[in-house]
Amino acid sequence: MTHILVVEDEPNLRQLLVDNLGFEGFTVEAVDDGVPALAAQRAHRADLIVLDLMLPQMDGFQVLQELRNARDPVPVLMLTARGSEADRVKGLSLGADDYMVKPFSVLEFIARIKAILRRSSPVEQPTALRSGPFRFNLAAMSAEREGHSLELTPREFRLLEILISHPGRTHSRQELVQQAWEADARPGPRTVDVHVANLRRKLGDEDKRGLIATVGGEGYRWTLKVDPER
Ligand code: CA
Repeated sequence: MTHILVVEDEPNLRQLLVDNLGFEGFTVEAVDDGVPALAAQRAHRADLIVLDLMLPQMDGFQVLQELRNARDPVPVLMLTARGSEADRVKGLSLGADDYMVKPFSVLEFIARIKAILRRSSPVEQPTALRSGPFRFNLAAMSAEREGHSLELTPREFRLLEILISHPGRTHSRQELVQQAWEADARPGPRTVDVHVANLRRKLGDEDKRGLIATVGGEGYRWTLKVDPER
């Protein structure tokens, strides 16, 4: 459930925003000044704050500054009756995500809210990948073949991760060394060959033209298609 905090001291506008956000399926909390806004945010951690600039005691700029000083990255849509360029720039430079000048249409308001939420939600990276009979969990650094887990060392898993991240592309030994070993511990190219040989054995395909193909004089390539697991 996406939770939105509305900070607006004009009762009619506040109610209009609360009602319309509610219709859209958001849970909404509303307050009429800066201090209760900060208290509400500390208590409930909204996913987005609609913040009026002109408030009776503590203005929207101060609220925004307090939030950012407290390292709260919550997205903020600022509202103001004033349309001055200076206010807009100040709001944005304090870390507001968008800015609307009153009066505004409720439809546009909702559209802006949704756009900010889309931008702020992290893009989900697949953590599990499938490739032929294999399943790889990148977060857990685990690998399975047909449901049986494979005992890979962290280095072997790292090499595998590099290979499957670009299936079909040849990775040179030098590239693998640079990506799989720390700068102060990089071995020679033959060490890569040894690790790849171990990896092939553990994956169950030692054929140099098989799963991990040796590309003569160049490097190694993962030959199967890789798909994110849905
Ligand atoms: Ca106001």
